[in-house]
Amino acid sequence: MRLITDRLRDLEAIARRLEPSEAERAPLIQAVLNYTNEFLNSIDTRLTYIETADKGSGIYDSPIGDTPVGIDELLTMVATHVDRPGINCASGGHLGYIPGGGIFPSALGDYLADVTNRYAGVFFANPGAVRMEHMLTRWMASIVGFPDTAAGNLTSGGSIANLVGIVTARDAREITSREIPRSVIYLTAHAHHSVDKAIRIAGLRECVTRHVPMDAGHRMDASALERLVTADIAAGLRPFLVVASAGTTDVGAVDPMSAIGDISERHGLWMHVDGAYGAFFALCDEGRKVLGGMDRADSIVMDPHKGLFLPYGSGAVLVKDTRAMQHAHFYVANYMQDTAGSRDEVSPADISPELTKPFRGMRLWLPLKLLGVAPFRAALEEKMWLARYFRERLLEIPGFEVGPMPDLSVVTFRYLPSRGDVTEFNQRLVQAIHADGRVFLSSSVIDDQFIIRLAVLAFRTHRQTIDLTLDILKEKIASLT
Ligand SMILES: *Cc1c(COP(=O)(O)O)cnc(C)c1O
Repeated sequence: MRLITDRLRDLEAIARRLEPSEAERAPLIQAVLNYTNEFLNSIDTRLTYIETADKGSGIYDSPIGDTPVGIDELLTMVATHVDRPGINCASGGHLGYIPGGGIFPSALGDYLADVTNRYAGVFFANPGAVRMEHMLTRWMASIVGFPDTAAGNLTSGGSIANLVGIVTARDAREITSREIPRSVIYLTAHAHHSVDKAIRIAGLRECVTRHVPMDAGHRMDASALERLVTADIAAGLRPFLVVASAGTTDVGAVDPMSAIGDISERHGLWMHVDGAYGAFFALCDEGRKVLGGMDRADSIVMDPHKGLFLPYGSGAVLVKDTRAMQHAHFYVANYMQDTAGSRDEVSPADISPELTKPFRGMRLWLPLKLLGVAPFRAALEEKMWLARYFRERLLEIPGFEVGPMPDLSVVTFRYLPSRGDVTEFNQRLVQAIHADGRVFLSSSVIDDQFIIRLAVLAFRTHRQTIDLTLDILKEKIASLT
């Protein structure tokens, strides 16, 4: 016994280091606060993109081990190896891919949620936390026109949200292994790659997949969809799923969801809408004009870490038929028997692949309550007008060829040099913008043409950023021609 108590005393002395006292916490909090204050105070003058030779490899020089390291030294490592190389996703100059967010109150929400560590997976365990998450997904349902009986789950992002939606569709339409080879999925070539990934992960790789033709604005051609579905039924196949995009990543195109809803209803298709990028634009009137018909979907994905400017790690999926979502994801385990019988609210663990999960609601609830919805709505409309403004101003500069009017906030363009290869010139133009680093733009290939994209969704992007981008483009073109 003596041996045990001695050992316990020694172990406890070391294990208690996991619990710093208030006096020990104070300098840690202050150091992190100083670091983040310096970051935020300089955010407008920091570069958006930095290429370094070592690409952050210096982080390996301090391996994980038993020796404690002081907070100041650690923050220096973070500054040098993590927060310097690559894209500064918090910058308003991030205009590539789909830009990220990082609104400050979310960080406080995460701090609260991490310190108290409430578990929002099962209603019985933390009913208030689960209700908070349900309140948020019901609010999202109201934005897209879903009934408040729809089920919703806060996920890590749009990819997992797409997976949950597609798995739910698969089980709701009873696509068992025998049915797979004759079951048909419809989407456009511009659907996000996470949809293809979800189809494969869901075991639906051997379904028939039809790429529905698109119109000139890269939106799904609804009459072509109808023709394909009709022909497939006539051929003895079983159409079961259509994936519409509410804002494609490449060009921000919004598929005609009302028409797709009609076709889905006529032929019993599950309609899944990928609104990871675009769905939150329905918060503002300008966005609602182009997002009509989202309410027709059976399931919909929307990413608060895109359209609500949250830090990464926040997606959402809504499913109209709660039972279908539960049917695809519930599990009853003996060690969970205490949770049975709490049927007041559906548990997140019963409608998603996760059991233990971060309490994601807090990082969304806190900013929405602290600020109200108005600044989010205004910022989204601002982004739409900024994209249109950029396109108008670009048209005034001789030599630029611009893509169609954006449905949401992505503008595509390329420069037509007076001589030489167009693609090669535009590749060099993108490289020059990356080397400059003040703003970050990305490129893509659309209709076999190399194009440059400007995507406005960072909450820190304002008119000044767009004017700077136009100046940088003019400057680089002058130096490249
Ligand atoms: C970003 C995006 C996704 C993937 O979402 P993640 O949050 O990155 O996992 C899916 N679809 C579209 C249209 C997107 O823009």
